[in-house]
Amino acid sequence: ASTSSHKDIDTAKLTIEKNTSPKALLKPEELVFGHTFTDHMLTIEWNETSGWHAPQIKPYQNLSLDPATCVFHYAFECFEGMKAYKDKAGGIRLFRPDRNMERFNKSAARIALPTFAPTALIDLIATFAKLESRFIPDQRGYSLYLRPTMIGTQKTLGVGPPGSALLYVIASPVGPYYPTGFKAVSLEATDYAVRAWPGGVGDKKLGANYAPCIVPQREAMSRGFQQNLWLFGEEEFVTEVGTMNFFVAIKNKETGAKELITAPLDGTILGGVTRDSVLSLAKEKLVPAGWNIVERKYTIKELDDAANEGRLIEAFGSGTAAIVSPVRTISWKGKTIKCGLKDHEESGELALKMKDWMEARMYGDDEHEWSYHC
Ligand code: PMP
Repeated sequence: ASTSSHKDIDTAKLTIEKNTSPKALLKPEELVFGHTFTDHMLTIEWNETSGWHAPQIKPYQNLSLDPATCVFHYAFECFEGMKAYKDKAGGIRLFRPDRNMERFNKSAARIALPTFAPTALIDLIATFAKLESRFIPDQRGYSLYLRPTMIGTQKTLGVGPPGSALLYVIASPVGPYYPTGFKAVSLEATDYAVRAWPGGVGDKKLGANYAPCIVPQREAMSRGFQQNLWLFGEEEFVTEVGTMNFFVAIKNKETGAKELITAPLDGTILGGVTRDSVLSLAKEKLVPAGWNIVERKYTIKELDDAANEGRLIEAFGSGTAAIVSPVRTISWKGKTIKCGLKDHEESGELALKMKDWMEARMYGDDEHEWSYHC
C-alpha cells in the first residue's frame, strides 16, 4: 500500500525545462560506464503533508541539501539500475521496467520512504529517455543506463521516518560491457565477510548494502581476481557474484541430467531482473532440450566436487550492466575451481546463447512483451 495515499505521482503535471547548452556527444568508444550524464534529469519531490509534487524534467544540475539532511546520516537511500535501448527503427525501449518499479517500491518501503504508482514513473522515465535519445549510439551493445534514486531529505538528526523525500532519475550512455566480445572473469570466494543475511536487507537495493562490499571486492582485485563470490554461513552456500546473480550449469550426479542452478530468493539474494529473465528464457528454450531449471541452495563444496568429477559445465553472473558474464575460475581456500571453459574459450555455450536471446528482446529484434515502447 502506498504511504502517499493522499497524492500519487501525477504525470499530467509534468513540466519540461530544456537545457539551453546541450553537451557535445562523446564518440561511442569513449564512453565509460557511469562517467558521463545526459542533459537533463527527472525530479519529483514528496512530503508527508501533500504527497508527490509535480514531476519536473530540467537541466542536469547539482542538488543543494542541508548538512543535517537525513540521507547523509542514516542512509535513507535506495536506487534502481535499468536501461533504455534504441531499436532498428530508432525507437526507444525499456526492458521490463515494471520489474524495476516493483523492486524500487519494495526498497523504498523498507526504509520508510514513500511508494508510488509504478505506471506513472514508467511513463515519466519513458518521456525522459526519449528526450535523451540522441545520447544513445545506434550500434548494437549501446544503451542508456538509467538510475532512478530516492533519498530522504528531511533536515533532522532525529532518527525517524523522513517527512520529505526526493525521487530523481539520471541517465548515462553506456557501451557494451565487453567491447571486444566476452571475457571470462576469475572470482575469489569471500569467506571473511558476508553481503546479506536472513532477516536483513540484502534483497533490497539500498545504497547502504553497497559501500561495505567494496573492500572485499578490492581485496579480490589486489590478488588478481576480477570479482568476489559471496558465500553464506558455515555451509558456505553460494549466493551472488559482486553485484550480479550467479548461475551454474552442472550434470546431476545421479541422473546425469543437465541442470541450470541459481540460489533461491530467500531474502539474502537480490531479485535481479536479468536473473528472472534468464530463468524464464531457460524454461522456455532449455527445458524442451532436456535441461532442468532449479532454484535451490547449493554450496561451494558441491561446485568443487562437480568440477573434480567433470560435471561442472559452465558458470556465469547475470545483471543489467553485463547481461551475462562468463566465469573461468573460482579461487576457494587456496584451490582453483575450474568452471568448465577450455583455456582458449571466453564463454560457455549457454552464456553466449543467453546473451543473444536477451539482447534480441532488449533491442526488439525478437518482439516480446518484456520490451516497453517509450
Ligand atoms: N545482485 C546485486 C547485489 C545487484 O546489485 C544487482 C544489480 N542490480 C544484481 C544482482 C542484478 O540485478 P539486475 O539483473 O536487476 O540488474
